[in-house]
Amino acid sequence: MLPMPGCCWLCLMPTALHQQGICSLCYRQLPASPSSCPRCGLPAASGDVDCGRCLLRPPPWQALVAVTNYQPPLSLLVRQFKFQQITALSVMLARLILLSWLQQRRTRQLVRPEIVLAVPLHQRRAWRRGFNQADLLARKLAYWIGSDYSAQGLRRVRAADLQHQLSARARRKNLRGAFKLEIAVAGRHIAVVDDVVTTGSTVAEISRLLQAAGAASVQICCLCRTL
Ligand SMILES: [Zn+2]
Ligand SMILES: [Zn+2]
Repeated sequence: MLPMPGCCWLCLMPTALHQQGICSLCYRQLPASPSSCPRCGLPAASGDVDCGRCLLRPPPWQALVAVTNYQPPLSLLVRQFKFQQITALSVMLARLILLSWLQQRRTRQLVRPEIVLAVPLHQRRAWRRGFNQADLLARKLAYWIGSDYSAQGLRRVRAADLQHQLSARARRKNLRGAFKLEIAVAGRHIAVVDDVVTTGSTVAEISRLLQAAGAASVQICCLCRTL
C-alpha cells in the first residue's frame, strides 16, 4: 500500500484532517481489546483493577497502554511499517497510541510521564533497517502529550540472541546487561515505547533498570500487546 496523504490507510476514504491517517469509522471498527489488566495489558476479568497474575507477581512497571492485540488490521500495518519500511505510517500509528493513552489517562488516572524513552535497537540492526520503529513512535507521542523525549537516554549495549526461541528464564538472562541508561531518572515518571510487546521481557528488563535508578514510575506504551 502506498501512503496517500489525506486518505484513510484502511478504507482509502478522505479523512477530515490531513494527518489523521485512519478515519474515525475505521478507528471505531478496530477490534476492541477484551477487557485487559491496566498493569500488564493481558486479558483480565476486569479492566479496572490489577489481575491475579499481577497481584501475585507484579511486573516491574506500573501501567501498560496498548491499542489492540496483535491482530489485523493493526498487525498488518505494523509489519508494513517495520519490514517494508513505510515510515509514513509512523504518524498514524503513533496517533493510535496517543488515543489509547488519553483514554487510559481519563479512565485509569495514568500519570503524564516527564520523560519518554524508546526501546532501542542494537546499532547493527538499526543500521540495517535504517530506522528504529519505536523511536519514530516515541518521538511523536512525547511531543503530543507534552513530555520530553530522550533519544539517547537508553542504549542497547549488547545484541541479544533471538528471544522467541528461549524460555522465560533464559530470556531474562539473555537480556541482562543488554541496556544502559544514559540519563538521570531519579524521582521522574517515565514512559517506555515499543511497537509490539509480546512476552514483556524486554520492557521488564528496561523497567528494572529504571526502577533501580530511582524512577518514580514506569509506564509502557505500545501498539499491540500479545502473548
Ligand atoms: Zn477508514
Ligand atoms: Zn495483570
